[in-house]
Amino acid sequence: MEEIGFESKILHTPFEKKDAYNSLSMPVYYTAAYEFDTAEAMEEAFCGRTTDHAYSRITNPTVQYFEDRIQAITGALSVTAFNSGMAAISNMLMTIASSGCNIITSPHLFGNTYSMMKSTLGDFNVETRFCDLTNLKETENAIDENTCAIFLEVITNPQMEVADLKALASICHKKGIPLIADTTILPFHIFKAKDFGVDIEIVSSTKYISGGATSLGGLVLDYGTFDWNKSKKLSGMSKQYGNKTFTAKLRKEIHRNLGAYMTPQAAYMQTLGLETMEVRFNRQASTCLDLAERIKSLDGIERVNYTGLKDNPYYKLSTEQFGSKPGAMFTFDLTSRDACFSFMNKLKLIRRATNLFDNKTLAIHPASTIFGTFTEEQRKSMDISQKTIRLSVGLESAHDLYNDIKQALAR
Ligand SMILES: *Cc1c(COP(=O)(O)O)cnc(C)c1O
Repeated sequence: MEEIGFESKILHTPFEKKDAYNSLSMPVYYTAAYEFDTAEAMEEAFCGRTTDHAYSRITNPTVQYFEDRIQAITGALSVTAFNSGMAAISNMLMTIASSGCNIITSPHLFGNTYSMMKSTLGDFNVETRFCDLTNLKETENAIDENTCAIFLEVITNPQMEVADLKALASICHKKGIPLIADTTILPFHIFKAKDFGVDIEIVSSTKYISGGATSLGGLVLDYGTFDWNKSKKLSGMSKQYGNKTFTAKLRKEIHRNLGAYMTPQAAYMQTLGLETMEVRFNRQASTCLDLAERIKSLDGIERVNYTGLKDNPYYKLSTEQFGSKPGAMFTFDLTSRDACFSFMNKLKLIRRATNLFDNKTLAIHPASTIFGTFTEEQRKSMDISQKTIRLSVGLESAHDLYNDIKQALAR
C-alpha cells in the first residue's frame, strides 16, 4: 500500500506496544513509576539503553503515544510534550541559551513569552534583542558571535505581522544559528514548518490541538535540520549526537530537570482533539475569512486585520506561506477603548474569554487583559492598541456570529 496521508496518519498511528486488553484508544496510564523484572533490566532502562518507561516525569506511554502521532504527521526527528505552551518555550530556551548569549526576536510576541525572555532570562544574563524581523537587513545586522537563535511567531498575535520565513532561515543558516518558530496560530496541515527552514517548532497544544479547551499542553518539535556543531553552547555535544544534539540536551537533561512533562490525562484529551483538528480548522478558518470580509463595512468598525484579506499588507506573503486560510483568529479596531468595552459587554453568543481556537468563538480586549499589566509605553512598543478586539472564531454558523457582532456594535 502506498504511504497513507495526513488525515489517516492522525487516526491510525500504531501503539508502541500492543495493549494488554486490546484497547482501541490509548488508555490513560496513570502511574508515576514502572516495575522491572530484574536489576539488569532496570540498569538498562535507567542508562537509556532500552526504551522501557521508568518514571512518568521522563516518559509515559499515553504521552508518548501523543508525541508519536505528532511525529507521524510532521516528520519531526523528535517531539516532546509539556504541560503548557510556556513550559515548551522555557524548556526550549534553557536548551539553547546560556549566560552571555543573546536571542533575536520581535517585540510582537505572546505576552508571557515576552516577559520570559526579557525578565526571566534577563536575570540569567541572556540578552533579548528586539528587532523588526520584517526588515532583513536590520535583523542580519543584529546577529553577532553570541547570538544563539532567531525566535518568532509565524503570524504575531494580535498584531498579525508576517515575516519572510525562507529569507530569515537563509540568514540564520548562513550565520550558523537555528530558526525557531512558535506556530501555535496554524495547524500542521496548513503550515509545514520544516519546508520553510524552521529548525525547531514550538506549539501551544492548548489551542487547535485540544480544541475544546479541555487541557493545557505544549510541544517542542526538532526537525534535526540544524548543524549544532556551529552552536557555541552545544558544539561539544554535537560530536557525539550529530543532528540529534538538541533533542539529546532537551530529553536527557533540561526536560528531566525542569519537570514539566505533559500529564497522561492531558495527553489523552489532546490525542482525541488531534483526531478532529483538520476538520475543525477548515471550518473555523472558512468562517473566519467570511466574517472578516463581511464585518468590514459595519458601522463602528475602523479596520479589520486578517492576513487572508486582500487589502492586508501581509496578504501576498501570508498566502505564499500559509495559503488562503491563515488561521481562525482576526482583530478589528473600533473607535475607542470605551467602544470596545461596550462591544464586549453587549455580546450575547460570543464568549468573553481568553484562549484561542476553542470550539466556541471567544472575544477579548487584549490591551486591558493579556497586556493589562504592561506600561502604556511597553504596549506602544509592542503595537498593542486600546481600540483593538481579538476574535477567535469557533464552530458556530457564520450567520449567528455576524448577527451577534452587529447587535453588539449598536450604540
Ligand atoms: C497560548 C500561546 C502560548 C502559551 O501557551 P500556553 O499553553 O497558554 O502556556 C504561546 N504562544 C502563543 C502564540 C500562544 O497563543
